[in-house]
Amino acid sequence: MAITMFDIMEGVNNEATHAKYSPSQLERILICPGSVRMSENIESVASKYAEEGTMLHAVMSYVVTHKLFSLEGIEWQRLEHEALIGKCIEKLLIIIKDLTGIKIYTDLKVKMPNCDVLGTLDIALTGRDRLTGRFEVHVIDYKFGGGIRVYVDDNPQGLAYISGFRAGLKNLPKNVDYFFWIFQPRFDYFEPKMYTAGELSKFEELVREVVKIAEKEDAPIVPSADSCRWCTAYGRCNRSVENAKQYYEENNTRAFDDFNLI
Ligand code: SF4
Repeated sequence: MAITMFDIMEGVNNEATHAKYSPSQLERILICPGSVRMSENIESVASKYAEEGTMLHAVMSYVVTHKLFSLEGIEWQRLEHEALIGKCIEKLLIIIKDLTGIKIYTDLKVKMPNCDVLGTLDIALTGRDRLTGRFEVHVIDYKFGGGIRVYVDDNPQGLAYISGFRAGLKNLPKNVDYFFWIFQPRFDYFEPKMYTAGELSKFEELVREVVKIAEKEDAPIVPSADSCRWCTAYGRCNRSVENAKQYYEENNTRAFDDFNLI
């Protein structure tokens, strides 16, 4: 099905070029500012789940920029992928149909204002809600799913994308509703969360403060399941090992040191 009712936008990217931090690292940095220094010069390795997310992103980007909304002609390594990406297209079409005057931005580099956080968002849509007439911004992150389930609530990555996106938009109306979506088709998770301009501004202030702390020599190192899970310093970081030992000793009858670990 060919659809031509919206404009595909390019540019409007806030002149973003280079920054020290990416939105995907923000959750970790907000919990453990010291992880910035700890993970310096350690390369991250992409998981198979991240690779599937990249594939979903590439296919959706192709479908949207060509206004095709069809998966015909695409060769699939796994048939399951065709079905799951079909669900993403259906969901995207529902969002599109609820809006008028739609503009769609794909693969857009966005930079948070007055802050060294830059990333590339998968897709953003702007338009007015057909029923209420309110101006809406929708930013969607494609995750695919299969590894860890990711939620839209208080999601630093999503907030950073919206923050950078709105910073690059010109002539925004006074009242705007901002929505962050995650598409994780393998979990059948297609959820939005609405954020207000005030919440975005508060988040921007918080990130600016934490980034300043992260730059310091004595930035605190704070282990937790959420911060350590994706940290490239995990395994070299004494604090995360101590934390794991403490957790084990608190939750098991045998002490960690009873085992002969090599
Ligand atoms: S492994 Fe955990 S505690 Fe250590 S630096 Fe990384 S996030 Fe912080």
